[in-house]
Amino acid sequence: MEVNTENIVRQFLYGGEPIGKQFPALHQSVYGKPLVYFDNAATTQKPYSVIHAISEYYSTINSNIHRGVHHLSQKATDAYEVSRNAVAAFINSRSSSEVIFTKGTTDGINLIADVYGSYAVKEGDSVIISAMEHHSNIVPWQIMCEKRGAVLKVIPMNENGELLMDEFERMLDERVKIVAVTYISNTLGTINPVKRIIELAHANGTPVLIDAAQAVQHVAVDVQDLDCDFLAFSGHKMYGPTGIGILYGKEEWLEKLPPYQGGGDMIKTVTFTGTEYNELPFKYEAGTPHIEGAITLKSAVDFITELGVNEIAAFENGLLQYTTSLVTEIPGIDIIGTAKAKAGALSLSVKGVHPYDVGVLLDKMGIAVRTGHHCTQPVMDFYCIPGTVRLSFAVYNTIEEIDYFISSLKRAINMLV
Ligand code: PLP
Repeated sequence: MEVNTENIVRQFLYGGEPIGKQFPALHQSVYGKPLVYFDNAATTQKPYSVIHAISEYYSTINSNIHRGVHHLSQKATDAYEVSRNAVAAFINSRSSSEVIFTKGTTDGINLIADVYGSYAVKEGDSVIISAMEHHSNIVPWQIMCEKRGAVLKVIPMNENGELLMDEFERMLDERVKIVAVTYISNTLGTINPVKRIIELAHANGTPVLIDAAQAVQHVAVDVQDLDCDFLAFSGHKMYGPTGIGILYGKEEWLEKLPPYQGGGDMIKTVTFTGTEYNELPFKYEAGTPHIEGAITLKSAVDFITELGVNEIAAFENGLLQYTTSLVTEIPGIDIIGTAKAKAGALSLSVKGVHPYDVGVLLDKMGIAVRTGHHCTQPVMDFYCIPGTVRLSFAVYNTIEEIDYFISSLKRAINMLV
């Protein structure tokens, strides 16, 4: 693969400085080597702006929200809702009442599988997912299908890791009650044609959930343009705090679907004879939420917005192309996932070597990669491999780090083969 290295941006700058300077966790040594962090699909490091926002929250306005009349509670409530508005703008939802704070992508998908399942799925119906889903977008649907006597169907993919859209079209019939697919594969890096998937599903009268866990930090996501019915993502994969995520849902769906969990905040009135549920989005936020995470998620949104998600996408695409071109030249390495449209992740398989061994040696050289099945066991079964070595990129990675990775990978292979 030919890459014009002259046009590749070597590092992302912020205020004239390498963006990596904003991330304190990157400035450490591992086994005496400077840390090179390529495990961003698992979780990203956090910039000072997010870290400071967390500390600022606990140092100033820490309080429970939506309940107290007192000053701090009102401040925390305001900040919580300001953050919700920022997220709504970030994904271009019509209204912030369509934005629900969750624990993360997994939580959001489980929520929809549960409430949508009880609302719409009957015995003999079906649910469609794809061959490259994360376990978080498989198991909740399996549990729901088992409960309801429904059938889980899977859009197949080709060797490149691209979904077979003709097959998908053929699978759509009146029994298909929901389609749930990932925007970008965390293992293969494939960018799926989600807009087309949504169009086709809607033509069949079927709503669509998009797993955007690997999308919002890499590409611009516009829920109105996509016209998705539901979309879930996690704060910790987009430079934000852990334990907070977002479930977007179209108002018309969230209004008619039943509540998920019962408790404080999701109610208007409670008596022993019946309960009136709260309006959106509070109907889906039972109990004390992860207040600090929700409030400081705004700092992560601001961080991405300030850098420009399209600028991030172009820069990371350069990293991906560059790495792909260099890896292709190393004998004995297969790239797992060679789709035309890719972002975020690059999975490798080294002939005759277990990925874990490569990962351990790279770790000793200061390089953090992920090895294993990446919570996509069916993808590993498809390629008949035990796992891959996965690099996944963030805005602070550099061409210099990739050069170091390539020489380290060659050293590791020499030791192992
Ligand atoms: N979906 C995809 C595509 C992912 O990559 C991940 C995490 O790696 C998830 C869902 C689950 O995210 P979380 O563990 O933050 O809920």
